[in-house]
Amino acid sequence: MSDRKVRVRFAPSPTGALHIGGVRTALYNYLFARSHGGDMLLRIEDTDSQRFVPGAEEYIIEALEWLGIKFDEGVSYGGENGPYRQSERRDIYRVYVQQLLDRGAAYIAFDTPEELEAKRKEIDNFQYDASTRLSMRNSLSMPKEEVDALITSGVQYVVRFKIEPNEEVVVSDIIRGEVTFNSSILDDKVLYKSADDLPTYHLANIVDDHLMKISHVIRGEEWLPSSPLHVLLYRAFGWEDTMPRFAHLPLLLKPDGNGKLSKRDGDRLGFPVFPLLWVDPKTEEVSSGYRESGYLPEAVVNFVALLGWNPGGEASEVLSMDELIKLFSLEKCSKAGAKFDYNKGRWFNHHYIQSADNRLLAELLSPTLAEHNIQADLDYVAKAVALVKERCQLIPELWEQSSFIFVRPTSYDEKTARKRWKEDSAKQMLELRDLLLTLPEALPTEETETKVKQWIEEAGYGLGAVMNCFRLSIVGEAKGPHMFDITAMLGREETIARLEQAVRTLG
Ligand code: GLU
Repeated sequence: MSDRKVRVRFAPSPTGALHIGGVRTALYNYLFARSHGGDMLLRIEDTDSQRFVPGAEEYIIEALEWLGIKFDEGVSYGGENGPYRQSERRDIYRVYVQQLLDRGAAYIAFDTPEELEAKRKEIDNFQYDASTRLSMRNSLSMPKEEVDALITSGVQYVVRFKIEPNEEVVVSDIIRGEVTFNSSILDDKVLYKSADDLPTYHLANIVDDHLMKISHVIRGEEWLPSSPLHVLLYRAFGWEDTMPRFAHLPLLLKPDGNGKLSKRDGDRLGFPVFPLLWVDPKTEEVSSGYRESGYLPEAVVNFVALLGWNPGGEASEVLSMDELIKLFSLEKCSKAGAKFDYNKGRWFNHHYIQSADNRLLAELLSPTLAEHNIQADLDYVAKAVALVKERCQLIPELWEQSSFIFVRPTSYDEKTARKRWKEDSAKQMLELRDLLLTLPEALPTEETETKVKQWIEEAGYGLGAVMNCFRLSIVGEAKGPHMFDITAMLGREETIARLEQAVRTLG
């Protein structure tokens, strides 16, 4: 079994936006597959038509693409084991449902929702299982002729898994070790519904993992309770030898307090829980996404990778996808829940903005420039970005920090003006203008700085006094990068225009 080729799958149900926990599941599957030279599949588990949400599948694919999580096979990727959308695999499932019926591992049940509800009222904690199934309407309690007649007459039915009570089921999990369950806690799960002519999640999931030769099932902790049922299904089919190995990932916890991370925590504390912006097609509710909030995909990947796993030892926390692939192992995943420290996410984003290519950042800033009717060439924007990115954690801050480069100030910060703009400031700014007129149009940073400082010294002015007013005139407030980097960006003509405007306005 251990020499099996590693093949993993990410198997989301298209029921809405992909939660950040789902992103982590996809990422760990990807890292595991890549680190073992294995395959990664994308399977869409859409057998529950009630919960199907239009657009969710496309959203999932786009989100994973943005993050750089690639698949070898699957929906939108193709491959030899398709179709990869479960709703297109009806014919395949029918065969396996029949197989379980033929083996006596499953049976047909006719109980209507009303009848089931009545039972639940009659019996406390009613469970459809070995202790109750003979009192229900199914092929175990009814004569064969009656069952056949009902089916022929078109009455809807379900197929239930016949679970033997009081058996020990051991699920061996790479992260949690051996987890033992008693089969009596399980009910006779519905595996197939004639009304949809589709299996339920459990059967489709097992049959597909088997047919798609999945070697490892890596998924969220919420699926751990389903795993004994899955083990029993493998047994019922006689597929124990090729049963995938399980790894159930730890829960993502609230950044503060206890409990599971929810979308409400994100709304409350101001961080996205979805990779991309999501508009719920029914309610039209808009949820923020990491991409639109101004995160770089590398930062999200790095941040999410460390929620429940760490490489240990001396390794740095800043890890590229390639480094993650080299270091990742399921054995190093923790059992304990991982606190969702979103400030750490911002910290990673700041880091990746610093190392990002300035032209790429300029491209990300371009839509905002367009919104403000600013036309600037990409190289120029890249230079502006380079000046301010050190102060930015999120992409929109690039605009907040650099807008003064593109737009001449229309007002001057009052507090700064009151404190800095003195009686002789106007005169000094005009002298500065005259000096700049003697310099090249490009105002080269070092040359300009030397000349300006020389003039200040010779005139006997205070360096601070002059430079503060200079900044106020050019930026409109007391912030921003190195003054002479700014003036080199603006050029002589614009710098002078700003000086003159400040003198006119501030007097
Ligand atoms: N369709 C399930 C989900 O939405 C898949 C669980 C599994 O990986 O087995 O997460």
